Amino acid sequence: MGYMKCAICKRVLLGIPKAEKLRFLPKSMKRVSRKYGGYLCSKCATKKIKEEARKIIKKLKGIK
Ligand SMILES: [Zn+2]
Repeated sequence: MGYMKCAICKRVLLGIPKAEKLRFLPKSMKRVSRKYGGYLCSKCATKKIKEEARKIIKKLKGIK
């Protein structure tokens, strides 16, 4: 196994250790604490979070 890649742009995720080294590290270091850490790169995660925020705001406005 190599590096983890972003699910959207396939860019190698930085801040995540190589798979072979994972067993030597504590659990808390295996994932980036940010939402979508270890799944999306920071750019795509920010985009996705913004999209979600927009959807939530739309819903909230609909209720009022
Ligand atoms: Zn990405």
